Amino acid sequence: MNPSHAQDEHEVPAQPVAETPVDYMAHIKGMSFFDPHIHMTSRTTDDYQAMADAGIVALIEPAFWLGQPRTGLATFKDYYASLVGWERFRSSQFGIKHYCTIGLNSREANNEALAEEVMELLPLFAYKEGVVGIGEIGFDDQTTAEEKFYRAQLELAKEAHLPVQIHTPHRNKKEGTERSMAIALEHGLDPGMVIVDHNNEETVKSVLDGGFWAAFTIYPFTKMGNERMVEVVRQYGPERIMVNSAADWGISDPLAVPKTAALMVMRGISPEAIRLVTYQNAIDAFAQSGQINVADFATPMVIDQSEKFNGNTILRGGQQPRRDQQSLFIK
Ligand SMILES: [Zn+2]
Repeated sequence: MNPSHAQDEHEVPAQPVAETPVDYMAHIKGMSFFDPHIHMTSRTTDDYQAMADAGIVALIEPAFWLGQPRTGLATFKDYYASLVGWERFRSSQFGIKHYCTIGLNSREANNEALAEEVMELLPLFAYKEGVVGIGEIGFDDQTTAEEKFYRAQLELAKEAHLPVQIHTPHRNKKEGTERSMAIALEHGLDPGMVIVDHNNEETVKSVLDGGFWAAFTIYPFTKMGNERMVEVVRQYGPERIMVNSAADWGISDPLAVPKTAALMVMRGISPEAIRLVTYQNAIDAFAQSGQINVADFATPMVIDQSEKFNGNTILRGGQQPRRDQQSLFIK
């Protein structure tokens, strides 16, 4: 007997709730967004185009793991080089200013021998142009090795006068968040230089009370949905809060920031509060690196897709480059 038929007879399969499609773009016309956490290396050119069309003018790509552990130092080196090189160029070809944070992620900190070597490599990238912080670092499983390399990187951030972008664990989040903040303070970091990421309703109060920046990741279907985000801003106000997509190779949404802004508009959050949490606060936090010049993205970039990076363009055989004659950027 066909199992799917059996199921049909006895249960009503869950149907997606019928939703009236929302033209969210209509709510955010003319607004600019800054996504301070997105892994563009894993995303497509379609994503870049959609992000530019939705008003994203700048982003930060934190160094992270690639879904499987790297086996050697050279792949770390090439990855960091791509964050300050090819990916930045690719982003510019869609008119989006690309920054990054450099760090050893918590998962790969557990390969201690390799992690030691990566620590030697980090200063070679941390001081490069457009690097706005050390990140994303912190805890995953909350192991001894993770703590060791988290501490070492806090020292590097202090030495380089760079903000720290903390990845808080998905398991035991509350405990991991408290521990991450306590250790940062133990190393003498100013909480105003620390962006604590992946917050939820359980962690936000203590992060804000401690004087840290509280970042929220909006993942479709899980974690902080954007409805919940609206309520957080309603309850805590916009100060030191920022929204990001953390879009990567998993199920995630590179348009999470503009979509959340649209929902905030629809829910009556003030325009100034929306501007703070989807644009300005991220700039204020990461500009402490001395590496963000708002003039670079405050006016639309002139795009010339015939430009090359090390001899390569984003174009494929026969495609015509988009060349903006003036500064016109058509939405
Ligand atoms: Zn991330």
